[in-house]
Amino acid sequence: MSGHLAVVGLGPGDARWLTPEAEAALAAADALYGYGPYLDRVPPRPGQARHPSDNREEDARAAAALRHAAEGARVALVSGGDPGVFAMAAAVCARIEAGPNAWRSLDVAIVPGVTAMLAVAARVGAPLGHDFCALSLSDNLKPWDLIERRLDAAAAGGFVIALYNPISRARPWQLGKAFERLRRRLPSSTPVVFGRAVGRDREKVLVCELEAADPAAADMATLIIVGSPMTRVIARPGRDPLVYTPRFAGDGK
Ligand code: SAH
Repeated sequence: MSGHLAVVGLGPGDARWLTPEAEAALAAADALYGYGPYLDRVPPRPGQARHPSDNREEDARAAAALRHAAEGARVALVSGGDPGVFAMAAAVCARIEAGPNAWRSLDVAIVPGVTAMLAVAARVGAPLGHDFCALSLSDNLKPWDLIERRLDAAAAGGFVIALYNPISRARPWQLGKAFERLRRRLPSSTPVVFGRAVGRDREKVLVCELEAADPAAADMATLIIVGSPMTRVIARPGRDPLVYTPRFAGDGK
């Protein structure tokens, strides 16, 4: 089968964070698919068709891109950040697994991108310098009590925790509950980083302690990093503090 599907990570927003490989995959495509605001980040090219879709239509979008590629086209399906992190690459794999046999012989390339937690971490220092994990707080695709168990396990395990999808209009209370849960297991002085729209115009980065972490400081475009008991904040005169997690850990901490 001659069709080709590239699932392309655009990075968090700043054009300088788009990899040369992603840039080349976008330039080579006959057709682009993606969530509207992500597609808007890709400059138009003559002769290239654009198929924007809504936020919640990931499965239908993946199927449409696969169908189009199976007709012989070069298709690029775009994702914010990295396409393999809470994004389209897994939706495409699931569709291929459940779809017609012919889709298994398609040429599929996953083109990685800078994921949000790396961009946010880089803004403040090195909070992910030691063992960490990433959780989506969205209970659209999994039950809330599973999220609570994973938060408990991550905190008990001493991991730094990156929280994707912390809040939305349809999910207003989950982040407050998550902080409450984490406060039971972590010191109240644990550093928390809110990174909103990093690499975009409305970027805002805030560092506070877990005790004072306010869900109202987050929106849909925010990634939160909750430190481990080892995470430290270095105050600096006239400069923003540096947040980091040392590369070594003692026994059981
Ligand atoms: N595939 C994306 C994540 C998709 S889930 C990636 O790898 O980054 C969407 C969530 O990602 C948002 O709710 C937010 O938590 C985070 N996010 C995406 N872009 C961001 C940015 N520029 N700044 C901060 N967080 C961002």
